[in-house]
Amino acid sequence: MNVHEFQGKEILNFFVVETPKSFLVYTEQEALEAAKRLSVNFSCLESYVIKAQVHAGGRGKCGGVKLAKNLKEVREKAYKILGMYLVTPQTSEKGKLVRKVLVSEDVYYPGTMEYYISIFLNRSLGKNMILYSPEGGMDIESVSNPEKVKTEIIDSEEMKAFQARKIAFNLHLKGKAFKAFVKFITTLYRAYVKSDASLLEINPMIKTYDERILAVDAKVVIDENALFRHSYYKTLRDNQEENTEEVEASKAGLNFVKLNGNVACMVNGAGLAMATMDMIKFSGGSPANFLDIGGTADENRIENAFSIILKDSSVEVILINIFGGIVRCDLVARVIITCTKDFCDTIPIVIRLKGTNFERSREIINRSGLHFHSVNSMKEAAEKLKTLYKSS
Ligand code: GDP
Ligand code: MN
Repeated sequence: MNVHEFQGKEILNFFVVETPKSFLVYTEQEALEAAKRLSVNFSCLESYVIKAQVHAGGRGKCGGVKLAKNLKEVREKAYKILGMYLVTPQTSEKGKLVRKVLVSEDVYYPGTMEYYISIFLNRSLGKNMILYSPEGGMDIESVSNPEKVKTEIIDSEEMKAFQARKIAFNLHLKGKAFKAFVKFITTLYRAYVKSDASLLEINPMIKTYDERILAVDAKVVIDENALFRHSYYKTLRDNQEENTEEVEASKAGLNFVKLNGNVACMVNGAGLAMATMDMIKFSGGSPANFLDIGGTADENRIENAFSIILKDSSVEVILINIFGGIVRCDLVARVIITCTKDFCDTIPIVIRLKGTNFERSREIINRSGLHFHSVNSMKEAAEKLKTLYKSS
């Protein structure tokens, strides 16, 4: 589950990881009030920072992070950002509507160094890993010198002191900042473990003029499978930021991910769903979604699944690939007929039903008098799909 920067920072603060002081606001008037409550530090470059709160990074380069020298500018810049569609390399072409901004104190001074730190689960090693670089900031993706990006594997619930010191040393920190960083990274790692995060990315982390270490940005992803342990985190989900179909699907108990192709698929079992997506690619098409309706596909669920996939106007063909294990194929066939009778003449539907009572399901589909494309195997399905694409 993705959370906003301001929520990520709240989580960090709870574990005593320091961030610049900030307030979340929804209007330019509130932005002004918030800025009045922040103390201005005159050693710093500007006075305030206004940051769009959307689930996408790359805001800095695309106008979603603005500096303000005084209260008048805070109001102006908040007005500019609020209500805009922010387009970054991590959003669609349309961009994301900015509904709220974070008003933050400016913590930069001339010559501020930006660092990159992230903690995540390295799945191939099955261990947590810290990735870090002394060249953080907006251009981290283009740091090509491998010497500048280092990793540290952490094999326990708590970080060892020598590992924290090693990272501080490699980031060329000294004196008070060195000590502050050791505390920062140890606490950050603890926050990562205790919050059940799958990613904690701090870019940039900075050293202030008075040698404190602060997380200026925070990208936090919480492991969905661990949410049952954190009732508070569940409330952090921002449905407005998520794909509406995906939200609707998760409410209906469906495992759905929106993709950009032309073939909608409805499958039971995640493994079969993945194999089906490969097969669609093999046929020259491209999946419009990943959809696992689960082992006990009942009428309600199948109906919901159709209503979600039909909302996508780029769908040219629907492919149903169901293995009757727990669920019986004849039952599924009946449900498919009820749910699709109104549109099966306009959108071609390819059906592969295998497993319990599949012969019977065939009969039911053939006798329905409706126009379906019944197939026996994945290979046959791929060949059938090829003939149904509009471009072919
Ligand atoms: P992102 O671009 O979406 O990752 O947003 P960030 O929170 O990382 O901010 C983008 C950039 O804005 C940072 O890399 C900094 O260069 C700049 N920035 C963020 N906060 C401050 C601040 O307090 N003062 C100054 N001068 N720049 C800041
Ligand atoms: Mn950032």
